[in-house]
Amino acid sequence: MTASQYAEMYEGLYRLFDDVTPLKGKDCGRLCGAACCRGDEKTGMLLFPGETTSLDVVGSAGRRLAVCRGFCDRGERPLSCRIFPLFPAVLPDGGIEVLPDARGFSVCPLVRRYQDVRFSAKFVGRVRLCGQILSRDPACADFLKEITEEIRSLELLRGSLG
Ligand code: SF4
Ligand code: SF4
Repeated sequence: MTASQYAEMYEGLYRLFDDVTPLKGKDCGRLCGAACCRGDEKTGMLLFPGETTSLDVVGSAGRRLAVCRGFCDRGERPLSCRIFPLFPAVLPDGGIEVLPDARGFSVCPLVRRYQDVRFSAKFVGRVRLCGQILSRDPACADFLKEITEEIRSLELLRGSLG
């Protein structure tokens, strides 16, 4: 995909999250003091392939991290922020399963209490659709698989630790 095709795709994906939030009608940031906004050079929002941002970026081509400093222009949020704390995990048959993003376990109460949280069905559906659209691009499909493996490994580790 060219840079302008990526820009167009991400603009469309961002719009999917204009009218939905993880908890229907609630600002989950009030639960945690917007904990996911307090990133640093190791814990910001990972950019997807071909995604650009006005936030500061660290890392190299494969792993570019947008660094969150506690606030931002909401219109400029990267995709990882818009879908957090869920992730469109790739199934062996290529389908998408929406999972809590285990990478956010220490930060996000919605990940830690996933079984008890009633997520907005619309938000979950949009995360799934986002994964389906991303999967059409080979680089994004590989990225989704890579992060899916990370999330599954973290879940296994947490399960084995009890
Ligand atoms: S850390 Fe979780 S609960 Fe807090 S604002 Fe971010 S997504 Fe919402
Ligand atoms: S991109 Fe903005 S809203 Fe999203 S976590 Fe970072 S600072 Fe917070």
